[in-house]
Amino acid sequence: YLQLAGITKRFGGNTVLDNIHLSAVKGEMITLLGPSGCGKSTLLRCISGLTEIEAGSVVLEERELTSLAPRDREVGMVFQSYGLFPNLSVSENIGYGLKMKGIKKEQRTKSVNELLELVDLSEKHHAYPHELSGGQQQRVALARSLAMQPKLMLLDEPLSALDAKIRKNLRMEIRQLQKRLMMTMIFVTHDQEEALMISDRICVMRNGVIVQEGSPEQIYSAPRTEFVARFIGNYN
Ligand code: ATP
Ligand code: MG
Repeated sequence: YLQLAGITKRFGGNTVLDNIHLSAVKGEMITLLGPSGCGKSTLLRCISGLTEIEAGSVVLEERELTSLAPRDREVGMVFQSYGLFPNLSVSENIGYGLKMKGIKKEQRTKSVNELLELVDLSEKHHAYPHELSGGQQQRVALARSLAMQPKLMLLDEPLSALDAKIRKNLRMEIRQLQKRLMMTMIFVTHDQEEALMISDRICVMRNGVIVQEGSPEQIYSAPRTEFVARFIGNYN
């Protein structure tokens, strides 16, 4: 469904991604787990087209994405900071992309209402971002991205600005939503517990390479290097 092959990215003389290979089946939840600066966000930006790559290919449903503009890639992205429009209501935020695409008001309202229900924010449809909690704002950002019906959803530390309790709830909500929609997602985090709880597969990154990939059980019970063992917290 998704194949990344030989992705290489440099900034100046600094190789930030070094020949990354990764593939996903439809409906898979993949986590990129690794310390600050290892290249997680850069890899997402290469997939979504916000950054150009030096070498490699990104194929999504048999379409090569690297030559396409970001808006033509059918890839959604959610960031740590929600990036909502402060002067638009919840409904208007969610429907914004559909409006830009020229979708008629009636169809838009229908889609927005479905999405509001999906992220459990129907009562808040008139509220403005500043009237919402962080978790609710992030759910709006998720719904806004889902509105575009992406084939792949990229989430860059979507929970890290939230406090612990909301973070745990929202991560389970995202996982349930992802399963229900059979949505293929790549989820970036540097929180090992989050990765273990939410993923079908974890890719542990270090210095621009994937040092180990496998199911949460495999990564936890059979870390291949001391780095992975330390990072996943199974080291004694
Ligand atoms: P974090 O967990 O802190 O978000 P990350 O794994 O997402 O880290 P990246 O943001 O992908 O890391 O950065 C990887 C490396 O690339 C870092 O060394 C960073 O300094 C470098 N880098 C990222 N963006 C640029 C840029 N626009 N220009 C130069 N160097 C950059
Ligand atoms: Mg990052």
